[in-house]
Amino acid sequence: MTRGVHWFRSDLRLRDNAAIDALAARCDEVAFAFVLDPRLLAAAPPDAPRVRFLLDGVERLERELARRGHALHVLRGEPVRELDRFLARARPEWLSFARATTPYGASRDARVRARAERAGVRVLAPKDAVVFGADELRTKSGGLYQVFGPYQRAWLARLAEEGLGAPCATRLPRPCAVRDARAGTLAAGLARAERRGGAAASAADERASIPVAGEAAARRRLEAFVERGLLRYATARDLPAVDGTSRLSPHLRFGAVSARDCIRAATDAAACDARLREGAARWVGELCWRDFYAAQLEEHPRIARGSFRADFDALEWDGDDALFARWRDGRTGFPIVDAGMRQLAATGWMHNRVRMIVASFLTKDLGIDWRRGERLFFERLVDGDPASNNGGWQWSASTGTDPQPYFRIFNPTSQGRRFDPDGDYVRRFVPELARLDAREIHAPDADARAACDYPAPCVDHAEARERALARYRRAIGRAPGAGATRAKPARRRAKARR
Ligand code: FAD
Repeated sequence: MTRGVHWFRSDLRLRDNAAIDALAARCDEVAFAFVLDPRLLAAAPPDAPRVRFLLDGVERLERELARRGHALHVLRGEPVRELDRFLARARPEWLSFARATTPYGASRDARVRARAERAGVRVLAPKDAVVFGADELRTKSGGLYQVFGPYQRAWLARLAEEGLGAPCATRLPRPCAVRDARAGTLAAGLARAERRGGAAASAADERASIPVAGEAAARRRLEAFVERGLLRYATARDLPAVDGTSRLSPHLRFGAVSARDCIRAATDAAACDARLREGAARWVGELCWRDFYAAQLEEHPRIARGSFRADFDALEWDGDDALFARWRDGRTGFPIVDAGMRQLAATGWMHNRVRMIVASFLTKDLGIDWRRGERLFFERLVDGDPASNNGGWQWSASTGTDPQPYFRIFNPTSQGRRFDPDGDYVRRFVPELARLDAREIHAPDADARAACDYPAPCVDHAEARERALARYRRAIGRAPGAGATRAKPARRRAKARR
């Protein structure tokens, strides 16, 4: 009788789960564990959308497992110690978990692996969250692609060449009984946390209204998007007033659906209906960004704190707290920026185009360090993801992988007019401007602002642009070697693929 333990983290699903599949192929009995890691819970306000969404997902997984006769053993504490103790009780031959690629996740997993192996437990840690890992797509010289375009071409070529095959089987081996007094249900684990003051809830009306988590909700969302959203994705994806994107990011973040299943669903639909081909190709191409940013963070762990372009570590940011607060609270006086920040506060999500606009505004117009924006996004986003968030912020601040030079600076007014031409997005999230027509809503004059009780612009964009250009030029001038010094690969892994 071979026993296994699967440790769930950001793979909260039973379908197409590569780690469970690998375990099920080797074991007759399995136990499932989840660890409430105080370090991860403490990284966000206790009531943060991301944490609430995660816990909702764990609870739904717990119920689904119970329906299939399995328990989810919820542990609370430092994961390396908790798992060590749990494995001593469960006495499995195998431990499985999906490979983590963030700096914290990778170092935690290395310690878990070392302890498990010392105790004679063999470890399975397959790639699961991404389609292709950092070690699978290399340039001819063996390095990681640093620019998205060539990476995406290589990613798509490999996908076309290898395909994804069928989804992993969902067969679960028999449940294996584990007696561990410290392991319990999610509700018991959370009650313990609350007693220690770790998970207090704030007033209900201050909470962002976030989507329902869990595998069933993720599948419904995917099916609805493929059926109704794919057709117009290529044209509607950049328009924040339109429900034109999948909104699957929180589900992908916590693994309620696999990226592989998303690609299968889109390509199968396009194979049956040629009208969906353009949208499917575009959407699959966007999913590639997740892999790209995950690979960058895995390869260059230092970018979690520093600039991808090392010359921009020398940037001198302004630390104006009052301006930061106006940006955070959606009171900058730039309607598209304020709409985005208010959408984030109200829903825990923001449209991609608007994420780029507000991030450019914070870093270029206000001259505030991208890391402050990254931190606020991570606290407020329901899909907050260390790699995609870091990549998106560095891209917008021109300190990252964007091959465009730093002097691409978004004009918030023309971005608003271009991507929200009727002003409907602004009207939805900045209701005091709702009565303005499309012509004036993105740049109300002083009288209209006064009548709507809407603030004057907090900066003059043209002047702010000049200050930003000077700031970037100074940083480049100061940097050793004064050129485009990109992050050096942490290690060379795979041989060149020719
Ligand atoms: P769709 O358009 O339906 O795309 C499908 C999926 O592809 C997304 O769910 C997402 O997983 C992936 N994807 C698409 N575009 C990107 C991208 N540019 N980068 C990474 N993945 C992408 N995405 C996150 O998941 N978590 C974050 O914390 C995050 N922070 C961001 C911060 C900034 C400053 C910026 C500019 C972008 C950020 N993004 C982040 C990327 C992007 O905005 C969201 O993935 C997207 O808006 C999610 O909406 P959707 O699911 O409807 O996307």
